[in-house]
Amino acid sequence: MGILDETRSSASNGEAGSVAFRELAESLPSLVWTCAPDGPCDYLGPQWVQYTGIPEAEQLGYGWLEQLHPDDKQPTIDKWQLSSSRGEPFEIEFRIRRYDGTYRWFATRAIPLRDDEGEIRKWLGINTDIEENRQAQAELRRLNAELESRVRARTEDLNHLNSVLRATASQLAEAESLARLGSWSLRASDNQVIWSDELFRIMGLDPELGEPPYEEHRRLFSDHSWKLIQDGISKALSTGEGYELEVDFQRPSGEVRKALARCRAVLASDGSTLRLVGTFQDITELFTARAERDRAAARARLATSAVGMGVWDWSLKTKELWWDPTMMALYDLGDPGAEAVVIQYEQWKSRLDPGDAGPVEEAVQAALAGKRSFNERFRVRLNDNSVRYVQGCARVFYEDDGEPSRMLGVNWDVTAEVELRSALVESEQLLQQFVKYAPAAIAMLDPALRYLHVSDKWLQDFRLEGRDMIGKSHYEVFPDVPPRWKEIHQRVLAGNTERCAEDQFPRADGILEWVQWEARPWRRPDGTVGGIIFFSQVITERKEMEELHLRWKQELERSNEDLERFAYSVSHDLQEPLRAVSGCAQILAKQYAGQLDSKADKLMRHMVEGTEQMRRLIEGLLSFSLLGRSKTNFRPLLLEDVMKDALSVLASPIQATGARVSYQELPHVEGDIAQLTQLFQNLISNALKYRSEKIPEVTVRARERSDCWQISVSDNGIGIEPRYHDRVFEMFQRLHSRAQYPGSGIGLTTCRRIVELHGGRLWVESEVGTGSVFHFTLKKRHVDTSDATDPDVVRTEDERQREDEAIN
Ligand code: ADP
Repeated sequence: MGILDETRSSASNGEAGSVAFRELAESLPSLVWTCAPDGPCDYLGPQWVQYTGIPEAEQLGYGWLEQLHPDDKQPTIDKWQLSSSRGEPFEIEFRIRRYDGTYRWFATRAIPLRDDEGEIRKWLGINTDIEENRQAQAELRRLNAELESRVRARTEDLNHLNSVLRATASQLAEAESLARLGSWSLRASDNQVIWSDELFRIMGLDPELGEPPYEEHRRLFSDHSWKLIQDGISKALSTGEGYELEVDFQRPSGEVRKALARCRAVLASDGSTLRLVGTFQDITELFTARAERDRAAARARLATSAVGMGVWDWSLKTKELWWDPTMMALYDLGDPGAEAVVIQYEQWKSRLDPGDAGPVEEAVQAALAGKRSFNERFRVRLNDNSVRYVQGCARVFYEDDGEPSRMLGVNWDVTAEVELRSALVESEQLLQQFVKYAPAAIAMLDPALRYLHVSDKWLQDFRLEGRDMIGKSHYEVFPDVPPRWKEIHQRVLAGNTERCAEDQFPRADGILEWVQWEARPWRRPDGTVGGIIFFSQVITERKEMEELHLRWKQELERSNEDLERFAYSVSHDLQEPLRAVSGCAQILAKQYAGQLDSKADKLMRHMVEGTEQMRRLIEGLLSFSLLGRSKTNFRPLLLEDVMKDALSVLASPIQATGARVSYQELPHVEGDIAQLTQLFQNLISNALKYRSEKIPEVTVRARERSDCWQISVSDNGIGIEPRYHDRVFEMFQRLHSRAQYPGSGIGLTTCRRIVELHGGRLWVESEVGTGSVFHFTLKKRHVDTSDATDPDVVRTEDERQREDEAIN
């Protein structure tokens, strides 16, 4: 209170007092300040200025309030107003901001200084730093609270332990029964044995009846198991060592079961055995399940190895990769038939083809991250650097916290499949190339008649060049396809082959083309129809040519007919006057020979010869023109008979030349007997006429060809130069003068016409000086000779031609 007294006196005694106050105030460790009676601050000590780092002038009045902690400002203002209005001492704790921005707690106390009248003259305040104090208090509070909570927890623990202890006995019994775990103890001093209730139940005995006597106890076990147990117990008693045994026991009901028997010795401080305690766990179900699990694993192993499927199991914790023997074989690692092995992940990766290692690794990571399942196809490099295609599937297993723990998968060899597929692709490409460049118009369509392959020729023929047809529908490309064709398409899809020699087809540009087409089903490897193949040929040009040809033929036939008619009428009409001239010339020669001069005799001889020559010419012409006019009469006949007729006509020239004419086995044919006789007659008489120095030899042979008979008439005469081989068949074409060989040049023309009327061909093979062979063909008979009335046999040539055209 000395300070206050001093302050009060200095305040009242002016400047001297004020200096004393300041010195005092500024030497205090606290922050000192004064305020006017009505509130505003009029002095802040240097400690305050130093502490806040803000000049005094800025804080006078109410500026100092700005340095207070925002939370403390309002309560301070309230309290200060209350105190200053009432004139009561002002006491509060608040935080003031230091020059470095940190806040520290201050205890503030201010008292009013009054004058003698009791009026307030000034307020005097001191702020004391209580930061450490407060922290110490807070720490103390915290320690207190912690202590309290520990005490509380300890108490709870004790309570809990109590209740746990109470529950343990019953829980133990329950746990034993749940785990099918019985327990027992044996006191070493007197061999007294105590069984738990569960042990009685496991053994199938009634706990009420108490532990079984030795004999009964012994009967519960198989001899082997009993011996194991007895040995274990004696050893435990003597050495204190426990045991763990799998034993068989039999309940009184006869049921045989499995158990796991464990024993531990409780030792006294001197090391001697006090007691044995043991557990006896019924593991029958576990044992069966374990056996079943082993069998299932064996089955899975057998199944996977039988289909060449390798199994792997990758632990993400140990980074070890377990591989079964099939995996080893698949990756060409180790001996075939080796046991399963554990390898490192990197080892697996090193077997992958460098081109696939990256993507496969990514797939593994994606599977581990749960983004997608692992189902990849990749290449494995084998020891000889060859490639094997492997398909891999895997599943990821996760821990409870969602972390992946292992990945389990299978691998199998798909090389054959990949190779087959690539072979298929290759053959597909080959087919495409083949079709594209085939010189024919080909289109291959699927069952919905969409284009699969198409040849360039097809595009060209149907004016579709430059269009991409693949995948387009046939009906979309050709919208005007007539319904009858659609029906044909359906029949082909049903398995039939359809074709047409001439058909009209509306082209994409609307023009009608003549086409010859064939549509066949194409089949898949399993035999089902996979679509249609069209082969087509645009025959518009050929068709037009044929029509032109037909027109020309008709015109030619007409003009031939005209010519024949003309030749006939000329030769026919000439016969009469010629006969008159010839008759007169002969009479003249006969009656006046030798009566006129020798020149007249010569002229008369010429006249007779000329008329004779003309008669032969006219006869030849007439018989030729008659061939086209008279109706041919085809009948079955034996060519030998024809030959005989011809020889009898030629008897005198044969005799005159001393010729040898022979023939061999001439066949049955169909023909006009008069014409064929004429044919033989002409050919044989030529052979006699164009003889060489040698005695003429004429041979007639028949040779059977696949569809006809070939008849040859050969001679040993003068022969014909090859350049005339065609010319000799033309009308009036002769190679010699009449003086050398008489003739008209119509004989071979008539022969060719006869052969042609019989549907055959006539030609010559000859060499000058050796002789000639005239060959001609005659159609075989296709009807039995016994049935002469068969209408097929007696049809006219016109009918025959029509039939032939129809067949062709
Ligand atoms: P021609 O009345 O002149 O015999 P052909 O038409 O029978 O008329 O024969 C035409 C020509 O063919 C004959 O002039 C002859 O030069 C030749 N020729 C026909 N047959 C024979 C043959 N067997 N040997 C040689 N030349 C032949």
